[in-house]
Amino acid sequence: MRIIAWLVTLGLMTAAVDAQVQPILTEDAAKVSGHVWAIMGFPNIAIVVGGNATLVIDTGLGPRNGATIAKVAKKLAPHNKLYLTTTHFHPEHAAGEPGFPAGTILIRNRTQQEEMDKHGEELIKQFAGRNDQWGELLADVKLRPPDETFEKERKLDLGDAVTARLLWFGGAHTKGDELIFVDPDKTLISGDVVQNKIVPGISNDGGTPSSWIAVLEQVEKLGALHVLPDHSAMGDGSLVVSEKTFITAVRMRALDLKRDGVNAEDAGMLLTAEFKAKYADWPINSLTNFVKSIYAE
Ligand SMILES: [Zn+2]
Ligand SMILES: [Zn+2]
Repeated sequence: MRIIAWLVTLGLMTAAVDAQVQPILTEDAAKVSGHVWAIMGFPNIAIVVGGNATLVIDTGLGPRNGATIAKVAKKLAPHNKLYLTTTHFHPEHAAGEPGFPAGTILIRNRTQQEEMDKHGEELIKQFAGRNDQWGELLADVKLRPPDETFEKERKLDLGDAVTARLLWFGGAHTKGDELIFVDPDKTLISGDVVQNKIVPGISNDGGTPSSWIAVLEQVEKLGALHVLPDHSAMGDGSLVVSEKTFITAVRMRALDLKRDGVNAEDAGMLLTAEFKAKYADWPINSLTNFVKSIYAE
């Protein structure tokens, strides 16, 4: 049931940002910072280019998109070794892996891989059933085990003093959310954990509102200058604080209402209206699912 509720949320959320639902990625790469490029789409893909190695973050929905990203990465640095990692196990972030060339080194955190083993195929099936185009993009996708997993942090040296730290701070949107921090750019690839004015969504079996806040406290310490979220526009380091402020404020108000005996459904409606007024520049459809997660903790 929760997965269906979450898919509905995703549908509503993405409908508001039209360019962000187009599932066929293009070869247009925009510069995020000195060593980081992005293909903006569903989802935004990051390509980090060092002196002898390139790291791609996320795969797009199915192998056709994976192949497009690999082509762009090759154009940016034809002779670099290729690493691939994923911000979380959802199909538009991870199911394009078979489109990458043989020899690509796939790395992700252990918690994310456990979620993938548990729910990966089931979610690909659900996404494939949503419409003909998604079905085509996800046809015959076979997931492979990663070449490497890590517990909390894996630092990749990409050459020419460019490094990427692959980080797992705990559960938020999913249990295995991975964040990537690139030096010397101080660029954060934030997945769903830090978005740009998007209502947070906890997927089936994901983290909790308070674990999400705890993750953001760790992210804050990184001191990011640039942030590339996966389903919204890029921004500066202030996105991290905005995300934490928003989630903390919704949580405090929801706990107030819970203490007053208001049920979760009514609290969701009340807080949706309240935050639509308070955050007029956020496209807020509904806070009810997130409020329910707060009540459930
Ligand atoms: Zn997701
Ligand atoms: Zn996504």
